[in-house]
Amino acid sequence: MNKQEILDSFFKGRVGVLATMHHKEKVIAPILEKELGIEVIVPENFNTDRFGTFTREIDRAGNQLEAAKRKAEHAMSVTGKTLAFASEGSFGPHPLFSFVPFNREIIVLVDKKHHLEIIGESQTTDTNYAQKTIKTFQEAYEFCKEAGFPEHAVIIKVNESTKDLSEIVKGITTKEKLSEAVKKMLQKSQNGEVFIETDMRALYNPTRMKNIEKAAHDLIEKINNVCPSCFVPGFELTERKPGLLCGGCGFPTSLIRADVYMCKKCGETEEKLYPQGKKTADPSQCGFCNP
Ligand SMILES: [Zn+2]
Ligand SMILES: [Zn+2]
Repeated sequence: MNKQEILDSFFKGRVGVLATMHHKEKVIAPILEKELGIEVIVPENFNTDRFGTFTREIDRAGNQLEAAKRKAEHAMSVTGKTLAFASEGSFGPHPLFSFVPFNREIIVLVDKKHHLEIIGESQTTDTNYAQKTIKTFQEAYEFCKEAGFPEHAVIIKVNESTKDLSEIVKGITTKEKLSEAVKKMLQKSQNGEVFIETDMRALYNPTRMKNIEKAAHDLIEKINNVCPSCFVPGFELTERKPGLLCGGCGFPTSLIRADVYMCKKCGETEEKLYPQGKKTADPSQCGFCNP
């Protein structure tokens, strides 16, 4: 069997249920359908907010991956299907540069029939993720202009920590709605201030939607990596080994020399040398030649 036949034997003709309610299927479904030969369905009235919301009135239980897996499990249990996909985003400061906002999207495939779990992801600093305390409409509007409004929506809350839905206005995409929301929340505010933040829900955030699409492509790439020993999809990159030798002096550098792949099914590992396509490092990137 060639690789395509192996992949077809796993997925072709099956129905995959996508656990989403924020129109993420628009970018995810075409990729999955084309690449895996499956039919993607979205369960009706599927409420993913119960697994946590970005506005924090419902906290997410567990980490990002656990949340995605729970959504996928739930989608399978309501539809009776054995193949599910779920995506989950996280936002916050960049792990190294705390002043830079950061978005990590993951998409998980859960296949009950073949006992598979494969994770695609995309990390980017290309996000409008931001929040601010404001006192006037003008301040709110300035924030909005920075955030890519009105293509990107914003949220106004009486204060940062409220979980009361009457104190939160989501999905604001017009100047009129913004003005109305600021006025209304200021009336409820105790201190003359309200909280504004970017709406990170996918359908209100085209920048995030692009990153979700990238995560879906990454998932396909991971699925396409088939174990050379047991022929199961999802042969996974588990380690990147530095030590590429310098082309000038021959000493090891911090650049990647080999990638290590591992199969979760059978434990097979494989070291792929020179994943960047170069057998030596440029002396300009060597600590000895170019200290
Ligand atoms: Zn294997
Ligand atoms: Zn060198």
